[in-house]
Amino acid sequence: MQSNETSKNLDASVIADKIRAVFDETSQRRTRTRELIEKRLVELATSGADFTIDDLWQAMRQEMPRLGRATVYRALEKLVNMGLLGRIEFADGTHHYRVCGDRHHHHLTCTQCHCVVELDVCLPEDQFAAIGNQTKFDIEGHSLTLFGRCEDCRNQQEPATTL
Ligand SMILES: [Zn+2]
Ligand SMILES: [Zn+2]
Ligand SMILES: [Zn+2]
Repeated sequence: MQSNETSKNLDASVIADKIRAVFDETSQRRTRTRELIEKRLVELATSGADFTIDDLWQAMRQEMPRLGRATVYRALEKLVNMGLLGRIEFADGTHHYRVCGDRHHHHLTCTQCHCVVELDVCLPEDQFAAIGNQTKFDIEGHSLTLFGRCEDCRNQQEPATTL
């Protein structure tokens, strides 16, 4: 696979520092759970993989068998709220997490295999201003996810199967 600009992996040490800073800001004690989450997320940031809460929970339970799912969930949502983790919504209502960094971007997701492509596109600023004016809203943010079928999934469908 050829890597391009938009899918360039984030610097693991930068991510580790940011995750630590978020946990410090929310004055969470330095627990074993927290250290394990930091370690796993740095690995995931380095690989650029997206993951579900259960992926992360099952992986962490190898090292901490009594770890609760709710603990992992709370830690992940905290990182999402701080803008460090992306919550990627799929067309079928499920979602994955991904260490996305803090650069503004959006995602294109495959409805079939759930692969994720990072997009450096957004609506122009004046569009948001116009929407704000029309609706008399003070627009504070937005999310934008594009759906479709990736090339691999479309190719797999190609041979007509006779049932
Ligand atoms: Zn992203
Ligand atoms: Zn696909
Ligand atoms: Zn945007």
